[in-house]
Amino acid sequence: MASPTVKLNSGYDMPLCGFGLWKVSNDTCADTVYNAIKAGYRLLDGACDYGNEKECGEGVARAIKDGLVKREELFIVSKLWQTFHDVDRVEPITRRQLADWQVDYFDLFLIHFPVALEYVDPSVRYPPGWHYDGDKEIRWSKTTNQETWGAMEGLVEKGLARSIGVSNYQAQTLYDTLKYAKIRPATLQIELHPYLQQVELVKLAKHEGIVVTAYSSFGPTGFIELDMDNAKTAAPLMEHDAIKAMAAKHNKTPAQILLRWATQQGLAVIPKTGRPAVMLQNLDCFNFDLDEEDNKRIAKMELNLKFNKPTNYFPADNLWIFG
Ligand code: NAD
Repeated sequence: MASPTVKLNSGYDMPLCGFGLWKVSNDTCADTVYNAIKAGYRLLDGACDYGNEKECGEGVARAIKDGLVKREELFIVSKLWQTFHDVDRVEPITRRQLADWQVDYFDLFLIHFPVALEYVDPSVRYPPGWHYDGDKEIRWSKTTNQETWGAMEGLVEKGLARSIGVSNYQAQTLYDTLKYAKIRPATLQIELHPYLQQVELVKLAKHEGIVVTAYSSFGPTGFIELDMDNAKTAAPLMEHDAIKAMAAKHNKTPAQILLRWATQQGLAVIPKTGRPAVMLQNLDCFNFDLDEEDNKRIAKMELNLKFNKPTNYFPADNLWIFG
């Protein structure tokens, strides 16, 4: 099974359904990546912060060695962590991440969050996480998003990334980037599901020719395993009456309904699961369409409920007021 693709403003084609790698444990990651490729996924969505890029690289190398796929058929995505926003840190950390993946270019490299933190040497702690001391100290870097974007453009010029993009940007940050970008962001990766539909931001990105990737398509489900309070109290999307009714109507699973709702709008999705049968199920989300009535019902489910924000992870840190 293969995913359809979407053309990026960089000229490259990106699969609309990829495989997410957050919270994939180190001991299962190489096998998970291998199995995802075997199931037909070609886009792998990683990040320094996920702490499993070495194992991702092992899975990719094994899949290539076994003849499942060629490097050029894969679309490997990774992200720049905040402690590496200083201009002279961008290229060295990208090279390290490429070495972990055992590849010599990323298909897409994203700024993970538009917030620069002070550099933490990888020999001290890797991945560095949010806190300077690995515990609770916040140290900002003075580097601006404009400076970091310039260094990201340098990665394209050096052939280390084919396309570059941003994540967790809101409208103003995006507008700002577009003012100075010599290379425009190819994609915007944001949390997006029926409880957080991001209608205006999607409209803006589309208008500017930027493809949106929706992460956490199943809403609270991915955050319950982090014991997050607002995820535990939210009604699970896959058990929502409206979603279940659509699943029955189209003879699909609730997960497929949630993924199709996004891809039908031209958004890319990156679900994750460790189970091969569910990998296949999630990739198989293109051969039907939601109708107008379905889309109207989902539109009414908007709650402006965001799970992936720093204040949810660190409730005691009242400094984290962004995103
Ligand atoms: P997810 O899409 O992986 O879903 C959450 C949970 O749903 C998974 O743990 C899985 O067990 C379960 N699930 C998956 N398919 C299912 C199915 N068909 N039926 C029942 N349960 C199913 O959510 P996520 O991890 O929040 O996000 C997906 C990916 O998005 C991540 O792996 C990561 O690559 C990316 N992401 C990026 C950011 C960012 O800041 N840029 C933040 C969060 C996630």
